[in-house]
Amino acid sequence: MALREGALRLHFYYNRRNFLKFPSCVSVRSLSYNEPSNPATASVAEITDDHVIYTQQHFALKESLRKIIDQEINPYVDQWEAEGKFPAHKIFKILGTAGFLGVNKPVEYGGLGLDFSYSVAVAEELGNIRCGGIPMAIGVQSDMATPALARFGSAELKKEFLVPTIMGDKVACIGVSEVGAGSDVSSIITKAVRKGDEYVINGGKMWTTNGTQADWMCLLANTSDGPPHRNKSLICLPMNLPGVHIARKIDKLGMWSSDTAEVFFDDVHVPCKNVIGLEGMGFTYQMLQFQEERLWAVANIVTTMDNIIQDTIQYTRQRKIFKQPVLYHQSVHFRLAELQTEVELLRSLLYHATALYIKGNDVTKLASMAKLKGGRLARELGDGCLQYWGGMGFTSDVPVSRFYRDSRLLSIGAGADEVMLAIICKYMDTLPNK
Ligand SMILES: Cc1cc2nc3c(=O)[nH]c(=O)nc-3n(C[C@H](O)[C@H](O)[C@H](O)COP(=O)(O)OP(=O)(O)OC[C@H]3O[C@@H](n4cnc5c(N)ncnc54)[C@H](O)[C@@H]3O)c2cc1C
Repeated sequence: MALREGALRLHFYYNRRNFLKFPSCVSVRSLSYNEPSNPATASVAEITDDHVIYTQQHFALKESLRKIIDQEINPYVDQWEAEGKFPAHKIFKILGTAGFLGVNKPVEYGGLGLDFSYSVAVAEELGNIRCGGIPMAIGVQSDMATPALARFGSAELKKEFLVPTIMGDKVACIGVSEVGAGSDVSSIITKAVRKGDEYVINGGKMWTTNGTQADWMCLLANTSDGPPHRNKSLICLPMNLPGVHIARKIDKLGMWSSDTAEVFFDDVHVPCKNVIGLEGMGFTYQMLQFQEERLWAVANIVTTMDNIIQDTIQYTRQRKIFKQPVLYHQSVHFRLAELQTEVELLRSLLYHATALYIKGNDVTKLASMAKLKGGRLARELGDGCLQYWGGMGFTSDVPVSRFYRDSRLLSIGAGADEVMLAIICKYMDTLPNK
């Protein structure tokens, strides 16, 4: 069996390197690796032995992933950005075989059976990919389209959709947003009408990440005419069914290597057994699913923010103005110190929320705060750092301009800043009753 094979490979890999003793369930595959990554970009938190939430196992997992990133992804990022798409099936197969698409998913379904802190570690490491689009696409596959399926789906559904998604054999997407409903998820209009033992689905989804390449969609649809929080279900929808139309691939400001689709459903027949968990619980499951999505997104961007600060330090150290490096101007190095301080604060919040989450606590408020702060800080940091690159910052050739474009999404996607504020206010009991 593939899982056992992976575990054996891991055993070999770690014994060979005389590295760490991992539990045998961790199937991180041995690869022939390139040069080691540049440690100059490691954050303060990463180089500390005594870490708040990470053990040596987390660091080993990150190190293995970093080698895949350096070898299989980063050399091609510029090409995929220019092409407006990356080869999801190829990259997911590499990541899935190595075990990185299901670190916190059950072992019996191909996952590594670890807790969510390992997903956070993976998300952080993926922040070393030199663009935002590919990490986002990977996150959709590993932590956005599958948490509800893993937690509430039937064994049959998990076998059909979860296992191949974790192994990288199927590409997943998540269909929540619609042309007329993004922030207000309760107002979606896509309908799944029960006819015998099938649903007939009509409607459409907007902004679907991985949408042009996906094999299945975790679809949120109305399955009854009841109240908006009780009439929705999550359904595993194969994308090759008759009546599923990819209307177009959407052109975007950033995240170029990630394909984003508009999808229509025209009398699509799906077996009722494809519903995840209980019919009518889709809204609740999706809200739960969002917590992991938001923490994942924050974990991913803190690493990129570290990298952008480091890139900016390197550039401004060698770029001279008025006979001294740009960096030596106090306004510049003080500003970078302030930004790095803000990143560390955000990272602390992320680790705090993660630590509570893996103990089984509801971290909706903290996850929303982290997502809000992450989006705002990314905008501030992207703009602030880009300024110190002068004209170079305005070219497409430098990571800072890509970050400036890509990171703008964090204040909009997975719940806009204002949606995060509304959730926080709800927990603070300051939202006026309508
Ligand atoms: C690149 C990209 C990838 C995406 N991937 C996916 C995906 O894979 N699957 C998916 O389902 N969706 C996806 N989305 C959709 C994304 O989640 C939505 O764009 C987001 O939820 C916002 O919804 P909207 O665009 O409809 O904005 P709207 O709901 O129209 O909101 C517009 C603006 O109103 C403001 N606003 C919102 N609520 C309030 C409030 N209470 N008070 C005051 N102002 C408010 C916000 O500033 C918001 O940006 C993606 C979007 C993008 C751009």
